[in-house]
Amino acid sequence: MSPTSDDGLKIFRDAQSGFRWAGVDRLNYKEEGSAPFKSISRQVLFSGPGLAGELRYFKIEPGGFSTLERHEHVHAVMILHGRGTCLVREMVRAVETYDLVTIAPWSWHQFRATGGEALGFLCLVNAERDRPQLPNADDLTALRAIPGVAEFLDGK
Ligand code: MN
Repeated sequence: MSPTSDDGLKIFRDAQSGFRWAGVDRLNYKEEGSAPFKSISRQVLFSGPGLAGELRYFKIEPGGFSTLERHEHVHAVMILHGRGTCLVREMVRAVETYDLVTIAPWSWHQFRATGGEALGFLCLVNAERDRPQLPNADDLTALRAIPGVAEFLDGK
């Protein structure tokens, strides 16, 4: 029997192969059809009543991408493995293993596994958070006018 905290949380979880952890479910990234995304899964590594945040692991398969969105809550992201590209505000940047990305309130953001391999990252987020906003047509027009962003959004 593995020990648990006073909150009933498991104290130890062994790493398994393929970026899985004992007793941690691999979940859908989001509800299907709720927003555009492709080939991405989610695992909640740490979450509990004693924490104001959650730590999640996301894995984007080659060619996949997270939803382009913005919200009031923040993200602290560490690339755990692989490489890819991300958009934060008006900036498109290549990212690779162990890079850190801070996503401040109301910053448009998206991650893409453009490097021909899976992109895995840890994401620290507020436990209580607002619902993400998706870009409307005007937002997309403004974003696509920024050099490099249209190519990024088109996966090029
Ligand atoms: Mn987000």
